[in-house]
Amino acid sequence: SLSDRLNDTFDRLRGKGKLTEADITSAMRDIRMALLEADVNFKVVKEFVAKTKERCMTAEVMESLSPAQNVVKIVLDELTEMLGSTESKLVFSNRIPNVIMLVGLQGSGKTTAAVKLAYLLKKQGRSPLLVACDVYRPAAADQLATLGGEIGVPVFRGDGAHPVDIAKGAIQEAVDHLRDVVIVDTAGRLQIDEQMMQEAVYIKKAVKPDQVLMVVDAMTGQDIVNVVSTFAERTDFDGVIISKLDGDARGGGALSVRQVTGKPIKFVSMGEKPDSLEPFYPDRMAKRILGMGDVVGIIEKAQEAADAEQLEAAERMLREGFTMNDMLDQMKAVKKMGGMKGILGMLPGGQRALNQMGGNLDEGIFDKNEAIIMSMTKEERLRPSIINGQRRARIAKGAGVTPTEVNSLMKQWGEMNKMMGRMRTMANQAQAGGKKG
Ligand code: GDP
Ligand code: MG
Repeated sequence: SLSDRLNDTFDRLRGKGKLTEADITSAMRDIRMALLEADVNFKVVKEFVAKTKERCMTAEVMESLSPAQNVVKIVLDELTEMLGSTESKLVFSNRIPNVIMLVGLQGSGKTTAAVKLAYLLKKQGRSPLLVACDVYRPAAADQLATLGGEIGVPVFRGDGAHPVDIAKGAIQEAVDHLRDVVIVDTAGRLQIDEQMMQEAVYIKKAVKPDQVLMVVDAMTGQDIVNVVSTFAERTDFDGVIISKLDGDARGGGALSVRQVTGKPIKFVSMGEKPDSLEPFYPDRMAKRILGMGDVVGIIEKAQEAADAEQLEAAERMLREGFTMNDMLDQMKAVKKMGGMKGILGMLPGGQRALNQMGGNLDEGIFDKNEAIIMSMTKEERLRPSIINGQRRARIAKGAGVTPTEVNSLMKQWGEMNKMMGRMRTMANQAQAGGKKG
């Protein structure tokens, strides 16, 4: 993956100590290749590498005490800027109802995003109304109605009516029923298509949306430039929602969106569930791409799910390492925080670990793991590395599982422990960086 490639490049730099111009040139070549292979637009890559290289080639960087660390920081800075620098929130006007219109190609994830957005706004105390303006696929309105029903948000549909009339009718409906946000889900085509564009333009004229959001599939490759530019020209839009960021897409196309359109990414959609729409933070995403993990995200989730005690435990683990007792203690918290998958995905190198495990984590394994840890002695829990074949067989017997299952728990513990080590290093580096300036 992109993260792996960039990390390999950084590891090579770190191994060098003092850097020469040739080292930087070669690192920049690696970064360029990695970005291109991840489908980041070639013009965006060119600009990115030129700027980054120029900043890295200064004497200040090359003669510093930790040049590699400086290079990483510059890459992080530039990547953050490429993604838009700062968070861009949804803007609401005083008008009631506010109208948000979603546009994008068919299958890009508009309907899903509409529902997720409705869910998010409902949680914030608003009363959304979803509008089904995709009248071409017979199942489209049903899909929206079903999903809307699941999250308890009403869906306005005008079977048989023209999309423009449906959209207008929905606004009236919102006024009549005191809904304060109308989310208009529109039809898309598989490719840019004149009729679709025309229709989106008409709907836009009719309802005068406060915000038009374009939904872009993270899997879109280089073609993204064409697609977003056409939408920008015809319907214009205020921001972007990147969908399917949870998949194994290379994602580079989506990463270019900001640079190509100048429009901010507002949300990322990363899953099947209605609560998987997240505000987009360029700095966090950049860190994630560089495999630095979303430490802030972890802490936020921890605050949501756990109490101060658990946070304290997390800090202690960072300081002192990760024992089987911690694993046991954290299992419940982990469940609350979206399961192992959710957490691993945010940890530095976690995505890599997940991939190594085949991207598949059986969450039901928790009960089994609990039994396994309960069968360990106190010493084994504190120092899992002493667990040899004989101990493993004994533990397996005690827990009523196979030695292979004990093994896989040990492996998981090993990955977690390694990650804690990496996080500790990062925390120390951040601290050292903070002191410097
Ligand atoms: P639309 O044609 O633009 O309305 O696209 P849909 O919302 O119907 O989505 C197309 C397909 O992509 C559906 O099967 C969705 O379940 C799936 N999908 C949409 N957003 C996401 C996402 O964030 N993650 C995943 N994994 N699947 C998604
Ligand atoms: Mg749809």
